[in-house]
Amino acid sequence: MSNTESERPLAWKLRSIVGEENVLADEPMSEHTTFGVGGPADLFVIPESFDEVRDVLRACDEAGVERFVLGRGSDLLVSDAGYRGVIVALTEGLVGVTVDGTEMTCQAGVDLREASEMACELGLTGLEFACGIPGSVGGACFMNAGAYGGCTADVLKCARVLMPDGSQVTLGVDELDLGYRHSRVHDEGLVVLSATFALEKGDPEKIRATMDDLMRQREEKQPLDLGSAGSTFKRPEGYFAGKLIMDAGLQGYQVGGAAVSKKHAGFVVNLGDATAADVHAVIEHVQDEVERQFGVRLEPEVRFLG
Ligand SMILES: Cc1cc2nc3c(=O)[nH]c(=O)nc-3n(C[C@H](O)[C@H](O)[C@H](O)COP(=O)(O)OP(=O)(O)OC[C@H]3O[C@@H](n4cnc5c(N)ncnc54)[C@H](O)[C@@H]3O)c2cc1C
Repeated sequence: MSNTESERPLAWKLRSIVGEENVLADEPMSEHTTFGVGGPADLFVIPESFDEVRDVLRACDEAGVERFVLGRGSDLLVSDAGYRGVIVALTEGLVGVTVDGTEMTCQAGVDLREASEMACELGLTGLEFACGIPGSVGGACFMNAGAYGGCTADVLKCARVLMPDGSQVTLGVDELDLGYRHSRVHDEGLVVLSATFALEKGDPEKIRATMDDLMRQREEKQPLDLGSAGSTFKRPEGYFAGKLIMDAGLQGYQVGGAAVSKKHAGFVVNLGDATAADVHAVIEHVQDEVERQFGVRLEPEVRFLG
Protein backbone atom coordinates (compact mmCIF):
# COMPACT_ATOMS: atom_id res chain seq x y z
CA MET A 1 0.00 0.00 0.00
CA SER A 2 2.88 2.40 0.56
CA ASN A 3 3.24 2.36 -3.20
CA THR A 4 -0.15 3.89 -3.98
CA GLU A 5 -0.19 6.97 -6.22
CA SER A 6 -0.69 9.39 -3.32
CA GLU A 7 1.79 7.76 -0.98
CA ARG A 8 4.89 7.39 -3.14
CA PRO A 9 5.66 11.12 -3.29
CA LEU A 10 4.49 11.47 0.32
CA ALA A 11 6.94 8.81 1.52
CA TRP A 12 9.71 10.70 -0.24
CA LYS A 13 8.63 13.98 1.34
CA LEU A 14 8.39 12.39 4.81
CA ARG A 15 11.90 10.97 4.45
CA SER A 16 13.16 14.45 3.65
CA ILE A 17 11.56 15.71 6.89
CA VAL A 18 12.51 13.00 9.41
CA GLY A 19 15.30 11.10 7.67
CA GLU A 20 15.31 7.83 5.73
CA GLU A 21 15.63 5.65 8.86
CA ASN A 22 12.57 7.21 10.50
CA VAL A 23 10.05 6.24 7.81
CA LEU A 24 9.02 2.59 7.86
CA ALA A 25 6.72 0.94 5.34
CA ASP A 26 4.16 -1.76 6.17
CA GLU A 27 5.00 -1.67 9.85
CA PRO A 28 3.01 -4.27 11.88
CA MET A 29 0.88 -2.42 14.41
CA SER A 30 0.77 -5.51 16.61
CA GLU A 31 4.27 -4.46 17.68
CA HIS A 32 3.10 -0.99 18.73
CA THR A 33 -0.04 -1.79 20.71
CA THR A 34 -0.40 -3.39 24.13
CA PHE A 35 -3.18 -5.65 22.76
CA GLY A 36 -0.50 -7.12 20.49
CA VAL A 37 -2.87 -7.26 17.53
CA GLY A 38 -3.22 -5.20 14.35
CA GLY A 39 -2.03 -5.41 10.76
CA PRO A 40 0.46 -3.19 8.94
CA ALA A 41 0.42 0.59 8.72
CA ASP A 42 1.27 1.83 5.23
CA LEU A 43 3.78 4.29 6.63
CA PHE A 44 5.11 4.60 10.17
CA VAL A 45 6.95 7.84 10.83
CA ILE A 46 9.10 8.79 13.81
CA PRO A 47 9.53 12.56 14.22
CA GLU A 48 12.21 13.76 16.64
CA SER A 49 11.21 17.40 17.19
CA PHE A 50 8.07 19.49 17.50
CA ASP A 51 8.72 21.06 14.11
CA GLU A 52 9.08 17.63 12.53
CA VAL A 53 5.70 16.61 13.97
CA ARG A 54 4.15 19.74 12.43
CA ASP A 55 5.83 19.22 9.07
CA VAL A 56 4.90 15.52 8.92
CA LEU A 57 1.23 16.24 9.68
CA ARG A 58 1.17 19.09 7.19
CA ALA A 59 2.70 16.91 4.47
CA CYS A 60 0.05 14.21 5.08
CA ASP A 61 -2.77 16.77 5.02
CA GLU A 62 -1.47 18.36 1.82
CA ALA A 63 -1.24 14.92 0.19
CA GLY A 64 -4.77 14.11 1.36
CA VAL A 65 -3.55 11.00 3.18
CA GLU A 66 -5.02 9.89 6.53
CA ARG A 67 -2.72 10.18 9.51
CA PHE A 68 -2.90 9.13 13.13
CA VAL A 69 -0.86 10.29 16.13
CA LEU A 70 0.28 7.28 18.15
CA GLY A 71 1.40 7.19 21.76
CA ARG A 72 2.18 3.84 23.38
CA GLY A 73 -0.81 2.15 21.76
CA SER A 74 -2.20 1.15 25.15
CA ASP A 75 -5.74 2.26 24.40
CA LEU A 76 -6.00 1.10 20.80
CA LEU A 77 -7.41 -1.76 18.80
CA VAL A 78 -5.97 -1.70 15.28
CA SER A 79 -7.79 -3.87 12.72
CA ASP A 80 -6.22 -6.97 11.19
CA ALA A 81 -6.13 -5.17 7.85
CA GLY A 82 -3.97 -2.48 9.44
CA TYR A 83 -4.03 1.24 8.72
CA ARG A 84 -4.21 2.83 5.29
CA GLY A 85 -2.33 6.00 6.02
CA VAL A 86 0.53 7.39 8.08
CA ILE A 87 1.12 6.59 11.74
CA VAL A 88 2.98 9.43 13.45
CA ALA A 89 4.69 7.72 16.37
CA LEU A 90 5.86 9.94 19.21
CA THR A 91 7.29 7.51 21.75
CA GLU A 92 10.68 7.04 20.15
CA GLY A 93 11.69 10.58 19.22
CA LEU A 94 9.89 12.83 21.72
CA VAL A 95 11.11 11.54 25.06
CA GLY A 96 12.88 14.48 26.69
CA VAL A 97 12.22 15.47 30.32
CA THR A 98 13.23 18.69 32.08
CA VAL A 99 12.75 19.58 35.70
CA ASP A 100 12.52 23.08 37.11
CA GLY A 101 12.03 23.08 40.88
CA THR A 102 8.83 21.13 41.44
CA GLU A 103 7.70 21.33 37.81
CA MET A 104 8.41 18.49 35.45
CA THR A 105 8.01 18.94 31.70
CA CYS A 106 7.80 15.76 29.65
CA GLN A 107 7.69 15.51 25.90
CA ALA A 108 4.59 13.74 24.61
CA GLY A 109 6.27 10.38 23.99
CA VAL A 110 7.52 9.89 27.54
CA ASP A 111 6.16 6.75 29.21
CA LEU A 112 3.86 7.81 32.07
CA ARG A 113 5.32 5.10 34.29
CA GLU A 114 8.81 6.50 33.73
CA ALA A 115 7.59 10.02 34.50
CA SER A 116 6.08 8.72 37.71
CA GLU A 117 9.29 6.86 38.60
CA MET A 118 11.42 9.90 37.87
CA ALA A 119 9.21 12.11 40.05
CA CYS A 120 9.59 9.60 42.87
CA GLU A 121 13.37 9.58 42.55
CA LEU A 122 13.37 13.38 42.67
CA GLY A 123 11.17 13.37 45.79
CA LEU A 124 8.26 14.97 43.94
CA THR A 125 4.73 13.89 44.77
CA GLY A 126 1.61 13.97 42.55
CA LEU A 127 2.29 11.42 39.82
CA GLU A 128 2.02 8.30 41.98
CA PHE A 129 -1.39 7.44 40.44
CA ALA A 130 0.32 7.06 37.05
CA CYS A 131 2.88 4.46 38.10
CA GLY A 132 0.99 1.58 36.47
CA ILE A 133 -0.58 3.29 33.46
CA PRO A 134 1.31 2.07 30.39
CA GLY A 135 0.49 5.09 28.20
CA SER A 136 2.43 8.12 27.03
CA VAL A 137 2.22 11.62 28.44
CA GLY A 138 0.44 12.75 25.24
CA GLY A 139 -2.06 9.91 25.50
CA ALA A 140 -2.65 10.78 29.15
CA CYS A 141 -3.59 14.36 28.20
CA PHE A 142 -5.83 13.09 25.38
CA MET A 143 -7.76 10.76 27.73
CA ASN A 144 -7.20 12.50 31.06
CA ALA A 145 -5.77 9.17 32.17
CA GLY A 146 -6.30 8.41 35.81
CA ALA A 147 -6.38 5.70 38.42
CA TYR A 148 -6.92 5.13 42.12
CA GLY A 149 -8.40 8.55 42.79
CA GLY A 150 -5.86 10.58 40.81
CA CYS A 151 -5.92 11.83 37.25
CA THR A 152 -3.88 13.84 34.78
CA ALA A 153 -5.98 16.98 35.31
CA ASP A 154 -5.02 17.02 39.02
CA VAL A 155 -1.32 17.58 38.31
CA LEU A 156 -1.16 19.02 34.82
CA LYS A 157 -0.18 22.69 34.74
CA CYS A 158 -0.16 23.21 30.98
CA ALA A 159 0.55 21.48 27.69
CA ARG A 160 2.35 22.61 24.58
CA VAL A 161 0.06 21.67 21.70
CA LEU A 162 -0.03 21.79 17.95
CA MET A 163 -3.23 23.47 16.78
CA PRO A 164 -5.04 22.32 13.62
CA ASP A 165 -3.58 25.33 11.75
CA GLY A 166 -0.03 24.17 12.57
CA SER A 167 0.68 26.81 15.23
CA GLN A 168 2.23 25.75 18.53
CA VAL A 169 0.65 27.18 21.66
CA THR A 170 0.76 26.52 25.38
CA LEU A 171 -2.65 25.86 26.93
CA GLY A 172 -3.23 25.95 30.67
CA VAL A 173 -5.00 23.00 32.24
CA ASP A 174 -8.23 25.03 32.45
CA GLU A 175 -8.14 25.57 28.70
CA LEU A 176 -7.77 21.84 28.01
CA ASP A 177 -11.23 20.97 29.33
CA LEU A 178 -10.18 17.66 30.90
CA GLY A 179 -13.04 15.43 32.07
CA TYR A 180 -13.64 11.70 32.47
CA ARG A 181 -11.69 10.13 29.55
CA HIS A 182 -12.26 13.34 27.64
CA SER A 183 -10.39 16.53 26.65
CA ARG A 184 -10.22 19.38 24.20
CA VAL A 185 -7.22 17.57 22.67
CA HIS A 186 -9.67 14.82 21.71
CA ASP A 187 -12.51 17.12 20.62
CA GLU A 188 -10.48 19.51 18.49
CA GLY A 189 -7.82 17.20 17.09
CA LEU A 190 -4.94 18.93 18.88
CA VAL A 191 -1.58 17.21 19.16
CA VAL A 192 0.16 17.30 22.51
CA LEU A 193 3.88 18.00 22.13
CA SER A 194 4.76 18.22 25.81
CA ALA A 195 3.11 18.54 29.20
CA THR A 196 4.19 20.30 32.37
CA PHE A 197 3.19 18.72 35.66
CA ALA A 198 3.04 20.89 38.79
CA LEU A 199 4.21 18.55 41.54
CA GLU A 200 5.05 19.11 45.20
CA LYS A 201 8.00 18.24 47.35
CA GLY A 202 7.38 14.99 49.17
CA ASP A 203 9.07 12.24 51.13
CA PRO A 204 10.60 9.79 48.59
CA GLU A 205 9.96 6.85 50.91
CA LYS A 206 6.27 7.69 51.23
CA ILE A 207 5.98 8.25 47.49
CA ARG A 208 7.63 4.88 46.84
CA ALA A 209 5.36 3.15 49.37
CA THR A 210 2.27 4.59 47.68
CA MET A 211 3.48 3.47 44.26
CA ASP A 212 4.33 -0.01 45.53
CA ASP A 213 0.88 -0.27 47.08
CA LEU A 214 -0.87 0.81 43.86
CA MET A 215 1.18 -1.66 41.81
CA ARG A 216 0.32 -4.43 44.28
CA GLN A 217 -3.37 -3.65 43.88
CA ARG A 218 -3.04 -3.74 40.08
CA GLU A 219 -1.12 -7.01 40.09
CA GLU A 220 -3.72 -8.56 42.37
CA LYS A 221 -6.73 -7.47 40.31
CA GLN A 222 -5.59 -7.00 36.72
CA PRO A 223 -4.39 -9.54 34.12
CA LEU A 224 -1.08 -7.76 33.55
CA ASP A 225 0.54 -10.85 32.05
CA LEU A 226 -1.76 -10.73 28.99
CA GLY A 227 -2.14 -8.24 26.16
CA SER A 228 -5.01 -5.77 26.65
CA ALA A 229 -5.87 -2.10 26.51
CA GLY A 230 -6.75 -1.91 30.19
CA SER A 231 -10.42 -1.32 30.93
CA THR A 232 -12.17 -2.07 27.67
CA PHE A 233 -15.32 -0.10 28.48
CA LYS A 234 -16.00 3.30 29.97
CA ARG A 235 -17.71 3.38 33.35
CA PRO A 236 -21.43 3.73 32.62
CA GLU A 237 -23.19 6.24 34.85
CA GLY A 238 -24.39 4.58 38.02
CA TYR A 239 -22.72 1.22 37.28
CA PHE A 240 -19.37 -0.50 37.06
CA ALA A 241 -18.64 -2.11 33.70
CA GLY A 242 -16.76 -5.04 35.26
CA LYS A 243 -19.63 -5.84 37.65
CA LEU A 244 -22.25 -5.74 34.87
CA ILE A 245 -20.11 -8.06 32.74
CA MET A 246 -19.59 -10.43 35.66
CA ASP A 247 -23.28 -10.41 36.58
CA ALA A 248 -24.11 -11.15 32.94
CA GLY A 249 -22.09 -14.35 33.30
CA LEU A 250 -19.60 -13.29 30.66
CA GLN A 251 -16.34 -13.74 32.55
CA GLY A 252 -14.20 -16.12 30.50
CA TYR A 253 -16.34 -15.65 27.36
CA GLN A 254 -13.96 -16.35 24.49
CA VAL A 255 -13.80 -15.91 20.72
CA GLY A 256 -10.66 -17.31 19.08
CA GLY A 257 -7.71 -15.98 21.07
CA ALA A 258 -9.59 -13.15 22.80
CA ALA A 259 -11.57 -13.41 26.02
CA VAL A 260 -13.15 -11.53 28.88
CA SER A 261 -10.47 -11.83 31.56
CA LYS A 262 -11.22 -14.29 34.34
CA LYS A 263 -9.21 -12.08 36.68
CA HIS A 264 -10.93 -8.76 35.88
CA ALA A 265 -14.21 -8.77 33.94
CA GLY A 266 -13.60 -5.20 32.73
CA PHE A 267 -10.61 -6.32 30.65
CA VAL A 268 -10.79 -8.07 27.28
CA VAL A 269 -7.47 -9.86 26.89
CA ASN A 270 -5.36 -11.44 24.17
CA LEU A 271 -4.72 -15.00 25.32
CA GLY A 272 -1.76 -15.20 22.94
CA ASP A 273 -2.91 -15.55 19.37
CA ALA A 274 -5.92 -13.24 19.16
CA THR A 275 -6.78 -11.31 16.03
CA ALA A 276 -8.39 -7.89 16.14
CA ALA A 277 -11.54 -9.55 14.78
CA ASP A 278 -11.60 -11.86 17.82
CA VAL A 279 -11.29 -8.89 20.18
CA HIS A 280 -14.04 -7.05 18.29
CA ALA A 281 -16.32 -10.06 18.48
CA VAL A 282 -15.86 -10.33 22.25
CA ILE A 283 -16.50 -6.60 22.72
CA GLU A 284 -19.68 -6.71 20.62
CA HIS A 285 -21.03 -9.78 22.35
CA VAL A 286 -20.40 -8.21 25.76
CA GLN A 287 -22.17 -5.01 24.68
CA ASP A 288 -25.17 -6.90 23.31
CA GLU A 289 -25.50 -9.31 26.20
CA VAL A 290 -25.12 -6.67 28.94
CA GLU A 291 -27.70 -4.51 27.15
CA ARG A 292 -30.07 -7.45 26.78
CA GLN A 293 -29.83 -8.36 30.45
CA PHE A 294 -29.54 -4.95 32.11
CA GLY A 295 -30.58 -2.38 29.53
CA VAL A 296 -27.19 -0.66 29.66
CA ARG A 297 -25.15 -0.25 26.48
CA LEU A 298 -21.46 -0.30 27.40
CA GLU A 299 -19.37 2.20 25.47
CA PRO A 300 -15.83 1.12 24.59
CA GLU A 301 -13.03 3.10 26.19
CA VAL A 302 -10.59 1.48 23.78
CA ARG A 303 -10.30 3.31 20.45
CA PHE A 304 -10.62 1.53 17.11
CA LEU A 305 -8.28 2.21 14.22
CA GLY A 306 -8.31 0.86 10.69
C1 LIG B 1 -2.72 -2.91 31.52
C2 LIG B 1 -3.32 -1.54 31.26
C3 LIG B 1 -3.77 -0.77 32.33
C4 LIG B 1 -4.32 0.49 32.10
N1 LIG B 1 -4.72 1.22 33.17
C5 LIG B 1 -5.24 2.45 32.97
C6 LIG B 1 -5.65 3.26 34.08
O1 LIG B 1 -5.54 2.86 35.23
N2 LIG B 1 -6.15 4.48 33.82
C7 LIG B 1 -6.28 4.96 32.55
O2 LIG B 1 -6.72 6.10 32.38
N3 LIG B 1 -5.91 4.22 31.49
C8 LIG B 1 -5.40 2.99 31.66
N4 LIG B 1 -5.02 2.24 30.58
C9 LIG B 1 -5.28 2.75 29.23
C10 LIG B 1 -4.16 3.60 28.61
O3 LIG B 1 -2.89 3.27 29.14
C11 LIG B 1 -4.43 5.10 28.78
O4 LIG B 1 -5.66 5.47 28.20
C12 LIG B 1 -3.32 5.96 28.14
O5 LIG B 1 -3.56 7.30 28.46
C13 LIG B 1 -3.24 5.82 26.61
O6 LIG B 1 -2.04 6.45 26.20
P1 LIG B 1 -1.24 5.97 24.90
O7 LIG B 1 -0.04 6.82 24.78
O8 LIG B 1 -1.01 4.51 24.95
O9 LIG B 1 -2.29 6.34 23.78
P2 LIG B 1 -2.56 5.54 22.42
O10 LIG B 1 -3.24 4.25 22.72
O11 LIG B 1 -1.34 5.50 21.60
O12 LIG B 1 -3.61 6.51 21.74
C14 LIG B 1 -4.88 6.71 22.35
C15 LIG B 1 -5.46 8.01 21.78
O13 LIG B 1 -4.66 9.09 22.22
C16 LIG B 1 -4.25 9.87 21.11
N5 LIG B 1 -2.92 10.42 21.39
C17 LIG B 1 -1.81 9.76 21.81
N6 LIG B 1 -0.78 10.62 21.95
C18 LIG B 1 -1.25 11.84 21.59
C19 LIG B 1 -0.67 13.12 21.53
N7 LIG B 1 0.62 13.35 21.84
N8 LIG B 1 -1.45 14.16 21.12
C20 LIG B 1 -2.74 13.96 20.79
N9 LIG B 1 -3.35 12.77 20.83
C21 LIG B 1 -2.61 11.72 21.24
C22 LIG B 1 -4.21 8.90 19.95
O14 LIG B 1 -4.33 9.58 18.70
C23 LIG B 1 -5.42 8.03 20.24
O15 LIG B 1 -6.60 8.61 19.75
C24 LIG B 1 -4.45 0.98 30.78
C25 LIG B 1 -3.98 0.21 29.71
C26 LIG B 1 -3.43 -1.05 29.94
C27 LIG B 1 -2.93 -1.84 28.78
